[in-house]
Amino acid sequence: MIRTHIEPCHVNRAEADALNRASGERYTQVAVFHWRTYRKHGHWLSQYGAEKWNDRANAEQPTLLHAHSVDAAQQGFYKACKTTRACRKAGLETRFPYRRKKFRTTIWKQTGIRREGDTLLLARARGQPSIRITLPEHLRDVLDIREVRLVYDKAKRRHFWHIVVEHGTQPKEAPGTTTVAVDLGEVHPAAVSDGHDTVVVTCRALRSQRQYAAKRLAELRQRQSTCKRGSRMWKRLQRRINRFLYQQAKRTRDMEHKVSREVVNTAVAMEAGTIAIGDVRDAAEKVKLGKKSNQKISNWSHGKVRQYITYKAAAEGIQTELVDERYTSQTCPSCGCRHKPRGRVYTCGQCGFSGHRDGVGAVNILSVQQHGEPGRICPTGSTTYRIPYNVRVLRSPLDTGQVACGQPQEAAAL
Ligand SMILES: [Zn+2]
Repeated sequence: MIRTHIEPCHVNRAEADALNRASGERYTQVAVFHWRTYRKHGHWLSQYGAEKWNDRANAEQPTLLHAHSVDAAQQGFYKACKTTRACRKAGLETRFPYRRKKFRTTIWKQTGIRREGDTLLLARARGQPSIRITLPEHLRDVLDIREVRLVYDKAKRRHFWHIVVEHGTQPKEAPGTTTVAVDLGEVHPAAVSDGHDTVVVTCRALRSQRQYAAKRLAELRQRQSTCKRGSRMWKRLQRRINRFLYQQAKRTRDMEHKVSREVVNTAVAMEAGTIAIGDVRDAAEKVKLGKKSNQKISNWSHGKVRQYITYKAAAEGIQTELVDERYTSQTCPSCGCRHKPRGRVYTCGQCGFSGHRDGVGAVNILSVQQHGEPGRICPTGSTTYRIPYNVRVLRSPLDTGQVACGQPQEAAAL
């Protein structure tokens, strides 16, 4: 399994900046040359052509970087172009990369990394001494070091090593053969169901975190709008905004990792072989929902959670598949009639069934996966709430108790 480890970096600031500045320079040269050629001659340069030109233009210049770190910086531009093309194909409006970069993460490929016992040697340009990193203890048994990156952390304002390693461990045997369905939601990040019991992973901290970030950002933007664009105050606020966004993104990511871990742990406990995830891409991207819902939905990063669940499940030997989630939140699992739920509890007017809204969604996703349509499986077990372990510390212990299916008052309180 390939994993990235983030480790503290002891290279001094000036040296680390110089490396990343050199990477940024090479990236910018390629980008500028590419667009200039396109503007003047209408010719879209190939990656190969741009690299060749850039190498020749810099042949006489002294550099700090290893030849393959230079390659990585040059390739960065064309990789970004490729991403843009993929996004456009998926119907998103994105621009091709055009910005100049003062700094860029320096990348050492396998060819620039040598290992001497517990020390990694990162090669620089010819004649320059290598950078030495002492491998932390937990990385000493890894099979292979794939890549090392020198990343500047904008929130902590210092550099870190991102070390990509092949652990050499194989994925585990799947804990069982049952199929478990996951419904990703905005209020509760995930509900997991095996058709019998339902586990709702709640993380209010995640939601309030997103709301706070949006609110605070609006405040800062408001203040910035009173300044003259490009003035000293304006720039100062821009730096603050950038740093704030970066901090919030890190916090959110941390919680999303914890949520996905909880989902996978639940699936393991349910002896799953397959996880069916409701495909909510349409809900989040195409439908116009009005100002308030749109804000909620656009702050909701379901794609990441799905991605995190997928790779964490793969390590446990569990497969994941996407399932069409249309009508899964509306269909009654007991009688199959369809109506929109109000509030957090789904109550059926026809047969009197009552249950947690997200639990109903999950069980219907399972029904779609197994029978091709929602409403064919009726949950008979209990509904449990689970708060990801480290987030729980922040919260009152009251909310962790069990709530039986069909007790709307207690369920609604959550
Ligand atoms: Zn019903």
